[in-house]
Amino acid sequence: MIIGDYHTHTTYCDGANSAEEMLKAAIEKGFKYYGFSSHAHLKYDESWTMSHESQEEYIKEVLSLKEKYKDQITVLLGCEYDLLSDNDLSKFEYVIGSCHSIIKDGKYLSVDHSEQTFNNCVQNSYGGDYYAFVKDYYELLATAADRDDFAFIGHFDLISKFNKDYKYFDEDDNRYEMPMYKALDRLAKAGKVFELNTKLTLYDKRTETLPSTRKWLDALSELGGNVIVNSDAHATVRIGHSFDKAIKLLSEYGFHSSLILTPNGYEEINL
Ligand SMILES: [Zn+2]
Ligand SMILES: [Zn+2]
Repeated sequence: MIIGDYHTHTTYCDGANSAEEMLKAAIEKGFKYYGFSSHAHLKYDESWTMSHESQEEYIKEVLSLKEKYKDQITVLLGCEYDLLSDNDLSKFEYVIGSCHSIIKDGKYLSVDHSEQTFNNCVQNSYGGDYYAFVKDYYELLATAADRDDFAFIGHFDLISKFNKDYKYFDEDDNRYEMPMYKALDRLAKAGKVFELNTKLTLYDKRTETLPSTRKWLDALSELGGNVIVNSDAHATVRIGHSFDKAIKLLSEYGFHSSLILTPNGYEEINL
């Protein structure tokens, strides 16, 4: 059983529930560890991130909840940092390194905001070439290999979120696989931990397991890399969502353990 969930959101960013509601739900579900990871400030689009001011309130509240519920659950104060974010990370116990957006010719482009914006980006900034967008996404994400402040890489293949049934690009095509494997290799060789994000891979947008997720799990397993399972919950009902399926999927690719983050660092738990 996986006893921690470290990728979660609240009303401090784009979540539906308060921090305390989320924590109480995690306790009820039997989790031993719970990580808050509100979206770090992003100057290009503040609609789904914390502001610099609300980040201070967020830190205060999470620390007070940590104390209030310390006999029932271990709370970790984290944030989900976008590679284009600009906030101070020194106060967080852990940071998720994610890529939700890129800058192309000075323009901010969102990877995952909606299917419509995803398509507009490709049409307006790449002349309809989805593979060029894919390549820029993975190249930016791969730069996370040079940072030592990320506990793990969030939703590695987010770029395929809207690609159900290969609607926009072929995930078996070299133009998809090459930049994806290149990023995976660079991150894995830098010792980065990869997140198996159940929201992206096992529930929500695509109910079947993403083909690209199967590819990178297979490759990462070969390289002896490590995985952490998280729900990316934006509401109480999503905490720990599809963790049973995640364990099955990891086992299929030869993983015998996943990681649990504790105040003293990572621990391995057998699947
Ligand atoms: Zn994210
Ligand atoms: Zn998230």
